[in-house]
Amino acid sequence: MARTETPRRIRGTQDIFGDEQRRFAHVLSTFERVRALYCFQRIDIPVFESTAVFARSLGETTDVVSKEMYTFEDRGGDSLTLRPEFTAGIARAYLTEGWQQFAPLKITTSGPVFRYERPQKGRFRQFHQIDAEVIGAAEPAADVELLVLADQLLRELGIADGVTLQLNTLGDAETREAWRAALVAHFEAHRGELSEDSLTRLEKNPMRILDSKDPKDRPIADSAPDIDTYLTPEARAFFDAVTAGLDAAGVAWERNARLVRGLDYYRHTAFEFVTDRLGSQGTVLAGGRYDGLIGSLGGPETAGVGWAAGVERLAMLLDEPAAAGIDAVVVPMGAAAEARATGIVADLRRAGVAVEMAYKGKMKARMAKADALGARFAIILGDDGLAKGVGAVKALATGTQTEVAFADLAEALR
Ligand code: ATP
Ligand code: MG
Repeated sequence: MARTETPRRIRGTQDIFGDEQRRFAHVLSTFERVRALYCFQRIDIPVFESTAVFARSLGETTDVVSKEMYTFEDRGGDSLTLRPEFTAGIARAYLTEGWQQFAPLKITTSGPVFRYERPQKGRFRQFHQIDAEVIGAAEPAADVELLVLADQLLRELGIADGVTLQLNTLGDAETREAWRAALVAHFEAHRGELSEDSLTRLEKNPMRILDSKDPKDRPIADSAPDIDTYLTPEARAFFDAVTAGLDAAGVAWERNARLVRGLDYYRHTAFEFVTDRLGSQGTVLAGGRYDGLIGSLGGPETAGVGWAAGVERLAMLLDEPAAAGIDAVVVPMGAAAEARATGIVADLRRAGVAVEMAYKGKMKARMAKADALGARFAIILGDDGLAKGVGAVKALATGTQTEVAFADLAEALR
């Protein structure tokens, strides 16, 4: 008979445990704390949507839509897609749930997202994003607030030093049209030198050639005209207001005139926080203004701006977060003590004390467990103590030991 094969973890997915889990949780809890300081509300949206939600808003020719989506037919024959990002689903919810009434709406969310990519360090097929959006605010103040929030998050995670904010403007519709024509003329003149992918981009979305990672494209992309010549006074004023806001808030930034972002829906502000500490997976947080997105989903023209960051990439940059220490380990010696310990442990936990019970092995192994868990105290329960109603409380850092009545244990450990 054939042996049953052990199931394997799917390529590009993760089982997150131990130190990795602590880093991961630290990123999420820090984000949760900082978003509250900026008065953003937390929302949750579905993991899958109708395929059209992403195809229409991200743009049919983008890498995400054309190559990376997990799309499937459900049993009812509908085409669904596991979310490859949050913004499109949030825009859909904004429309279907009537959230217009709350505009401007400042929201955050987080959770798994899915992209069929070649897995490598910092690049997964199921990864996690934190996400912040302001919908229904056309003012540059919204862009600034989101960027200051991102900057504070990186500072509180202790990773701001190695990370740079790169900022660009993609202008308004008029600017984009004029710039697009200039780009097309430039790229047409260098047709023969472009990569296969970029020839396709030239037809559909020539701006994205600027973003190409193909070495063949780089010289042509680098010599392409900048947007600055084509900025309308309004678009120029918008960008100036964003940079002035960042300066006022003390957030450092760098202009990167080549930064265009992969998705079709961006207008005005585009930005990335990048580091050289993660190799070619150096973008940790990215976003921009997407005033065209909700309209492309069939809704009323609505301003929006937002960003997303990869939780794994942020977690990789963290210094090792302190192991989650606990208050005490109860070490019962003998069957009677073990029976009594169950009640003591339950009472301590109900009183808000983080306590573990060591019930395996000899005394030495039990004390070793207390050390391994990083407990502050061991509570040793012996037969003598049971008779008197006391435990021996040993401070593990100093070795000092005192007898404490069971009823006073919680107080003594706090
Ligand atoms: P990249 O250029 O690395 O592919 P991207 O432009 O596709 O990134 P966005 O769509 O802007 O990324 O997503 C926001 C953030 O999500 C990225 O800055 C990155 O931190 C993270 N991210 C994107 N793709 C992955 C992935 N496959 N695995 C892990 N994190 C990812
Ligand atoms: Mg990508």
